[in-house]
Amino acid sequence: MPTADLVLAGAKVRTLDPDRPYATSVAVRDGLIAAVGDETDVRDWCGPGTEVVHLGGAHLVPGLVDAHSHPVWGLDMATGTDLSGVTDLAGLRAALADAARTDGWVTGFGLDHNAFEGRPVHRDLIEDVLDGTPAFLRLYDGHSALATGPALVAAGVHGPRGFAQRSEVVCDASARPTGHLVEHAAMGLVAEVAPRPSYAARRARLVELLSAMAATGLTGAHVMDAGDPELIGSVAAEMVLPVRLRFAPWCMPGADRTALDELVAVQGRGGRHWRTGGVKFFMDGTVEGGTAWLEHADCHGQGTDAFWPDPQAYAAAVRHLHAAGVRTATHAIGDAAVRHVLDVVEGLGPGGRGAHRVEHIETVPDELLPRFARLGVAASMQPPHTAYTRADGTDEWSRRLGPGRAGRAWRLRDLRDAGAVVALGSDWPIAHYDARAVLATARAPRGAASARAGLTGLEALEGCTSHAALAAGESDATGRIAPGLRADLTALGLDPVTAPPDEVAQAPVRLTVTGGHVVHREE
Ligand SMILES: [Zn+2]
Repeated sequence: MPTADLVLAGAKVRTLDPDRPYATSVAVRDGLIAAVGDETDVRDWCGPGTEVVHLGGAHLVPGLVDAHSHPVWGLDMATGTDLSGVTDLAGLRAALADAARTDGWVTGFGLDHNAFEGRPVHRDLIEDVLDGTPAFLRLYDGHSALATGPALVAAGVHGPRGFAQRSEVVCDASARPTGHLVEHAAMGLVAEVAPRPSYAARRARLVELLSAMAATGLTGAHVMDAGDPELIGSVAAEMVLPVRLRFAPWCMPGADRTALDELVAVQGRGGRHWRTGGVKFFMDGTVEGGTAWLEHADCHGQGTDAFWPDPQAYAAAVRHLHAAGVRTATHAIGDAAVRHVLDVVEGLGPGGRGAHRVEHIETVPDELLPRFARLGVAASMQPPHTAYTRADGTDEWSRRLGPGRAGRAWRLRDLRDAGAVVALGSDWPIAHYDARAVLATARAPRGAASARAGLTGLEALEGCTSHAALAAGESDATGRIAPGLRADLTALGLDPVTAPPDEVAQAPVRLTVTGGHVVHREE
């Protein structure tokens, strides 16, 4: 073989390739894996220009992928004051009183529904500490926000609004907005007038973020939004993106023929380490926000509506994209939402196998489990989200669902046992992007999901590698360490399969290689 650009030697290599499960050295050329072998092979691979990295016994695995992330959209979502540490109303009021003002506004993100201690989300609870400052606070789930009176006035929101999607400007009995904005369209009314970071600031934060992601071992992310092609394209032209990004733009209710054809047209567009691949749908919202689509209402009588007011219009859009060869990913948290997506894929016939996926799947009954494998629908799940629930059922997610449905929380292991592809992710900025935390919580889920068995160490690793590749339809190009596949590789200080989950969460990341480029090296 021609000499390698990069050789990783002295490693314990776990390839996930059945033809050669273990090795000690890997050769890389032109961004691809050129050879997999032992120390005796290394000399043959090296020429004058070869960089050799001795890994000193580190554990080399296929590059870790976050199968659900928002690294670009999240730059706007996660702006202002970080409210993720706020646990109660007194804490929220104190944080807002001290919050920095930007262009005369207070913006915040990461606010947990539990901070309202069971009360309805309402601007009356916070306005007196803000002294008339407009404020726009995003709740942690990314599906609702709280705006104060001056912020609503700035956006021209004075009462109820109608939307093509299931979205609401929540109003009291006298049609006065409470400030609670539910789902994307309503949130967008105020987000549009709230201060937004400059292009230069977003660009700098993106580079910083992707580097920080690579430092946790990530080499790729399935981005569940359109991102910002102009921003990504300009950054990717100047530097090696440390994390390979695959974007799935949204198809929202009301999308007409032209909008669908545009989604088809953008497929495959991209540059080095980024590409548009797939389309993202929402079938519902979130349990905490009362917008999950459930077979039976939650304890507040909410959760019986789909995000698409006409679920058959969703089916028609999926059929249109499927016929054009486009892969779809649908956000479906509640049991009715998951069932509807499976029904729609079933309606596509055998050609639907292996081409579509469901995101989140937070509570499902037994009868839906085998349908994933039977229909070839990938399950994309975010085990770190289990930490927003509590094992004693006192959190908003568990209270709304009640013990029966809360007892069927995040059935990662049951889906794997039923033969499904289970890809894993963080949904950053909803949870931290750290790939090691994803691996650890997949094996030891928290809160409402803690009573059930988690994934095995191998299944968790597969969720971030080979199963992520299957979910994206890329298993012939990535997800294992084998000749001809992308040189996306992660070296850890311990074996992520056999080390206990709490140690995996702290694993030293020795080296991250994306497309043959060393993008992170332990100091
Ligand atoms: Zn998401």
